[in-house]
Order: sequence, then C-alpha cells, then structure tokens
Amino acid sequence: MPGSSSESVARFRFKRTLDQLANKTGRGTELISLYVPPGTRIYEVLANLREEGGTSENLKSRTTRQNVQDAIERVSQRLRMFKEPPPTGLVIFAGAIPQNGQGSERMEIYTLIPPEPITVGFYRRDSRFHTEPLQNLIAEKDTYGILVIDGTEAVVATLKGRRVEIQKTFTSGIPGKSRAGGQSARRFERIREQVTNDYYKRVGQHFNEIMSQIPDLKGIIIGGPGPTKYVWAEGEYIQYMLKKKILSLIDTGYTSEAGVEEVVEKSNDILKGVRYNDEKQLVQKFLYEIGHETGKAAFGEKDIQKYLEKGVVDTLLISESLQGERLVLKCKSCGNEEEFRGTKFEADALKHELTTRACQKCGKPSLGVETEADIVDNFIDFAEKGGTRVEVISQETEEGRMLRDSFGKVAAVLRYAAN
Ligand SMILES: [Zn+2]
Repeated sequence: MPGSSSESVARFRFKRTLDQLANKTGRGTELISLYVPPGTRIYEVLANLREEGGTSENLKSRTTRQNVQDAIERVSQRLRMFKEPPPTGLVIFAGAIPQNGQGSERMEIYTLIPPEPITVGFYRRDSRFHTEPLQNLIAEKDTYGILVIDGTEAVVATLKGRRVEIQKTFTSGIPGKSRAGGQSARRFERIREQVTNDYYKRVGQHFNEIMSQIPDLKGIIIGGPGPTKYVWAEGEYIQYMLKKKILSLIDTGYTSEAGVEEVVEKSNDILKGVRYNDEKQLVQKFLYEIGHETGKAAFGEKDIQKYLEKGVVDTLLISESLQGERLVLKCKSCGNEEEFRGTKFEADALKHELTTRACQKCGKPSLGVETEADIVDNFIDFAEKGGTRVEVISQETEEGRMLRDSFGKVAAVLRYAAN
C-alpha cells in the first residue's frame, strides 16, 4: 500500500524548504539556528539568547557583530510570539544572507514547526543553517517487524527509519536433549515438545499483538542462527495477514539484540527494494497506459496543466527533480493570457524586461504578471482542487529516472481516455 498522497506531498514540501535553507550561506559566521524542543521554557531560551548577544560584542568585524546582533534580536522577537513551544517544538533560522554578491545581505528569518517532536535543543552560530536534525526527522519512516528466534531465545523488534527498537525478549525454557534411554527418554521428549510448542505460541501471541498495532507495517523479516526460524514461520504461530508480509528469512550468527542488528545489516537491499516498490509501481502503471495506447496517459508540463484544469487527472506523478516557476502574463490592452515556464532565473529576467515584450495577440507591450507560482506548488494546488492523488517520485529507481529523463519530470494517469 503506497503512503497517503498528502503525506508524500507534505514531506516533499518540508524537505524542499530544508534543502533551500541548507543551501544558504552567510558572509561570515552570522547565521543562527535555534532548536527549541517541546517543554522548554521560552524565557530560559530568551535569557540564553541575551547571553549570546552579549558574547557577540567581542566579535572583531563590525558588520558581523551588527548582523549577529540583528539576527539574535529577530529570533528573540519571533520567540516571544510563543507562550510555550508547540507540541513538536520550534526551530528558528535567522541571518543576513547575501542576495546578489557582497554587500547585498538581507536579514532572513524562518520559523519551522517540526512534523514530529524534536528532542534536542541547541543554539548555533555558523556560516550556514543547521538543518540536519530536521532532515533526519523526515528521513524514511517506514516500519518493519523483525523477529530473531532460535531454540533458546527470541527477540521481537521494530525498525522505523533507521531506528531499531526492541519490543520484547523471550527465553524458551526448553530443556536440553535427554541423555537417558528408554521409557524416561520418550517421556522427556514429549515434555520437550510441549515446552517448545508453548514457546513458539508465546512468541507468536506477542509478535502478532505487537505487529498488528503498527498502522502501516511495510514488511517482516525473520532471522536466527538455526532451523527454528523456518519451523516457526511455517507453523500456525503467526497470523495469516502478517505471514503474507514476511519478506525474507535470514541466517544470522547471533541471537538476541546482536542478531537483530545483524538482520538489519543483511536486509539493507531488501528494505530498499520495498521502499521504492510503490514508486516503481506508480510509474509502471503510467507506462502501461502509454504502451497500450489507452489514451489515459499524459506527460509534460503543458499537457498536465491542461488535464489538471479539466479535472480529469486520477494520479499525478511528479519527479522530485522538477523545479521552476510558472508565470501567467495578461495583456492590459486586449486581455490575452500567456503562460511562461522556466527556471527562477529566467522568470526573474522575464519580469525585468516585461515592458519591452510585445503581447502575442495585439503586439502592444502591455503585459503584466497575473499569477506567479512555483511549478510544483502550482501543480499540487490544481491537483488538490480536482481531487487528484499526487505522488512525488524519487530518482532512486529506473522508473523514477525515466520519469525525469523521458517524460518531462511530470506525468499522469487520467480518469478516462482523454488524450
Ligand atoms: Zn494584447
């Protein structure tokens, strides 16, 4: 099951903001990053900022000193707007950013509410913004179930993003092989079987309970040093629905927590495959429609815009590499509208020379900018209006790279044959 569309879009937007912030550099070490985790007292953070402001008096360069103090003042102002940090915390970036070479610095300030709680608070002054903790926060969050089992012990764990959490550990209590012979050996064997079965069941009950509580469980990996893992996985201990999610059974040298770590290491490729499988399938569906000439496929910015406006797009696939600006120009004389698409740089250049540009219809230089939007945001806005599912496709798969290189970075499957 692919993640929900809004989730894919929200994550994409947040990631894009972070990437933009990460690319900004200051003239000197003048940029401030402030992380305020939930539960922090705002007045304490303000007191720390005052102290930092005091320390910056010692900065040698007058410009740097001025910029740092301005940034600290702006951050403090922003902070005072909050009685307490939001439930997920608060991150503020501020600093003088050169807009167009030296001397063109302008104070920029950004307030971000993290999508998930941040745990560590800090203040940094550097020539760049420290976005890494937020980047990590939105890194892959798929959850997998792990069981490492052998005849003596078992561990149930979850892998969320890169974080492993041990959920429960068991010991089997299975007695070793009997050395006695005859009657007592058979009795002993029966007891042993009984204990083993109880152990498998006990692991199963907890495993099923833990895994069925995970809302979007992507898959299950079972490991262990011996044959126990096969016996357990093939038995009646794991729920049918969960059984279908088993991705692989992996031989490990260790049991317990070391065994879990080993499973995670060895299943890297498997997990990567699952992660991008949804994306591959989405693009494959589009390729199918193209290949079978069903009339339900469209690609390229112009066509996609057209179908989005008609409201006939079922699924919109946007390459994460797509970027640029869309301008709609309107002629003040004849009312004609023209569309422009290009890089931000080209859009800026066009706006500068607008007074010398002739209207395509009446020829008069009376074009004005009617609307101006980021290309991706523009697509997403139209998609949301039309109830279209939007998926942002990475460049990690062959299919993702095809979308990027062969289909103009944006493609769609239409609701019916309209193309
Ligand atoms: Zn005109």
